[in-house]
Amino acid sequence: MIPVVPWLKNAVLQASKPQQSIISVLKRELGGHRAGRSADVLHASDITKSDFCARKWALFDFLEKGVESQFIPTALDVTFRMGNVAERLVMEEWAGDAAVGHWQCRLCGLQRTMIAKPNGFCTTGVRHRWGYRQFVIEAPEYGLSGAIDGIFDVGAPHLLIAEIKTLNPTDFDTIVTPQPEHRLRTNLYLKMLAESNSPYKDKFNLSEARVLYISRGYGKMNATWNEILPFREFVVKRQDSDLKEILQKAKAVKLSREGQGMPTGICATALDKIAKKCVVCKECFSGTYPAKIPVSSLSV
Ligand code: SF4
Repeated sequence: MIPVVPWLKNAVLQASKPQQSIISVLKRELGGHRAGRSADVLHASDITKSDFCARKWALFDFLEKGVESQFIPTALDVTFRMGNVAERLVMEEWAGDAAVGHWQCRLCGLQRTMIAKPNGFCTTGVRHRWGYRQFVIEAPEYGLSGAIDGIFDVGAPHLLIAEIKTLNPTDFDTIVTPQPEHRLRTNLYLKMLAESNSPYKDKFNLSEARVLYISRGYGKMNATWNEILPFREFVVKRQDSDLKEILQKAKAVKLSREGQGMPTGICATALDKIAKKCVVCKECFSGTYPAKIPVSSLSV
C-alpha cells in the first residue's frame, strides 16, 4: 500500500470540512426585513392591537405610503411560525372529529365546506391530505374582515369558535385571564358573526367563545384534569360594549376611505411614546391634515 503523505491527508480533510453551520443555513431563511400585510383590507387583528390608530391608516392611504416593512428577528420569526404550526396541529390532527370548518386537500385541491374533518381519497387513489382553512367573516359596515382560528363541535347544539395562540412558558405558567388583545378579538368575532350574512351563522354559539393557549414549554399542572397539560382554555362571553372604541376606529378608517377626511389620532403630541415610533408622525403633526372625523364621537 502506498503511504498517504501527511500534507495530502490534511488537504483532503480541509476540502471536506463543512463550510457552514446549520444555524447559518437556517438564518438565511428566517428573520430579516419583511413587507407588512397589505393595508387594503382592515383586519380584526389590526384593530385589536392596543396601538391601532385610524389616523395612521388614513395617512397611509392619503400619502400612498404602502405597507410598512418590518424587521423580524430570527427568534420572533421562529415563534410565529411555530405558533402557526401548533394551530394547524390542533385543527388538523389533535382535535379529530371535533374540528369543524372548511378544508382543502393539499394534494388534489378538493374543497369541503363547514364539516368535521373529512376522510377519503384523491382520484389518484392516494389518501386526501386535508388542510384546515380559517373561516372568514366580513363586517362591511366597518370595512372589516376577520379569520377565526378554529371551530369546534364540543357536543353542544352550537359550534364553538376559538382563538388559538402559543405562549412562552413564563406567561403560560402565570396567565389567569386571556390576554386583552385575544379577549377583544374573540369578542369581536362573536359580534361580527352575529351580525354577518353568513349562511352558517345559525350553527354557531354567538354568546360565548374560547381562547386556547398552548405552552411552548412542557406545560403546567392543570387542577381540573389533575395532570400537567400544555393547554389553558378560557371562556370569552360576548360583550358588545367592550368593542365600542375599536369599532369607532374601524368606522373612521372606512369613512376616511369614503372621502370624508382625516380621523383624529391616538397621540396627544409628537413626543408620545407611540408617536415617536410612528412612520407618519411628521405628517400627522405637520398641520397639513386637519382632523375631520372625531373618532370617539362616532356612533357604532
Ligand atoms: S403619530 Fe400617533 S396619532 Fe399620529 S398617525 Fe401616528 S399613531 Fe396616529
